[in-house]
This record gives sequence, structure tokens and C-alpha cells, in this order.
Amino acid sequence: MFIAENLLKIKNSIPKNVTLIPVSKRKPIEMIEETYKVGQRIFGENKVQELVEKHEKLPSDIEWHMIGHLQTNKVKYIAPFVSLIHAVDSIKLLKEINKRAKQNNRVINCLLQIYIADEKSKFGLSFEELKNILESRVYQNMENIKIVGLMGMATNTIEVEKIRNEFALLKNTFDDVKNRFFEKSKEFTELSMGMSGDYKIAIESGSTMIRVGSIIFGARQ
Ligand SMILES: *Cc1c(COP(=O)(O)O)cnc(C)c1O
Repeated sequence: MFIAENLLKIKNSIPKNVTLIPVSKRKPIEMIEETYKVGQRIFGENKVQELVEKHEKLPSDIEWHMIGHLQTNKVKYIAPFVSLIHAVDSIKLLKEINKRAKQNNRVINCLLQIYIADEKSKFGLSFEELKNILESRVYQNMENIKIVGLMGMATNTIEVEKIRNEFALLKNTFDDVKNRFFEKSKEFTELSMGMSGDYKIAIESGSTMIRVGSIIFGARQ
């Protein structure tokens, strides 16, 4: 029962305009069911195979978010049901999502992942790459994807000011992109930033979606 309590505590402590995405990766179905019972209907996973298995085993009214790095050759497995893809980081991946969405008669919502941390291992687009995608004819002709915002991950550090600066940079980029490319559309609204260790800073910095795993479900192996 502590899992449901952890979840509700966080949910009740964050502003109404911020969506909590519980990250259930590497955690059993039973733990997800516990939070489903108290009304949770959105979950995030970072591996395609695990996402597909959990989608098959759990109720169909769950919205599944793919939050991790996505390989082009695996898009087809999640295209029939995924509700938001958080970490799109190339035009190649975007093309594949568009193609598979079309085959499934769907429009798939996506976030573009921006590189804000100073860790070599993290994925994401530079500001230049982001601009190039949005200005490209290829992107503008895609009918089965919708870019609804940006996503980013801060450096894994205890230096609060550093995290704050990285989130501020992402928020500035978000505002800039919205003004430049989505001024007339209402669909570019989401800023996915913040995890267990830094979600409070992320919310103060303008996050609209926090991806929180370990402080709800417990530490992972
Ligand atoms: C695992 C993961 C999270 C959640 O991490 P916690 O520190 O457990 O909250 C958030 N975002 C992404 C992309 C992840 O892979």
C-alpha cells in the first residue's frame, strides 16, 4: 500500500497544471495495479519490450508514455498504442514514427528531446539540430505526428544551481520554439522535465510533466 500512498502524496503536492508520469520501469505489474486502484492512468516506461508486455497485461484505459531512448527499428511495436513519445532526438526517428503512425491510422504525440546536461552519455538534440528539424520540409509534410513540446534531463548532480540553470535553459528554449514555430497552434504546450531527485526544481522552472520513478516505486536494482 505504501506505493499508492507515495504516489498520492506527490500528486497532491504538485500544481494542477503539472502531470505526474509515474515511471514503472523494472517494476512488477502488481505495483502498477496498486496505483491503478487509486486512479492512476498514466505510466512511463523506457524499454520497448517491457512497455509492450505491460500494455498487454494491464487494463486498456492506461496511457503509456515511452520516456526512454527509442531505436528506429522498434517504433513499430509501440506505434499501435503509445500515447506520448518523450525522447525524439532525430529526424530519422520522427520519420519512422510518422510512417508507423500512418499504418495504424493514428497521429502520435511526440516531444523533442533537447540536450541540456553536461554528461556525454545523455541523448538529445542541440538547439541547432532542433531548429533544423522544425524548419525542414520533411517535417512540415508529416501528417501522422504531432510535436506537443520538449523534454530534457538535467545533469545527475547534487548542485542545485547547476540543475536550475539547465532547466532554465530548457524553459527558454521551449518559449523560443513556441514563439517561432508554434505561435498559431495551441498544441505545443508540454515541457517534460524533472525526475525523483529534481522534480521540485523542475516545477519551479516551468515543467508541465514530471517523470518520477524511484520515490514512488522504490529504488531499482
Ligand atoms: C528512469 C527515468 C526516470 C525516472 O527516474 P527516477 O530517478 O527513478 O525518478 C525519468 N526519466 C527517464 C527518461 C528515465 O529513464
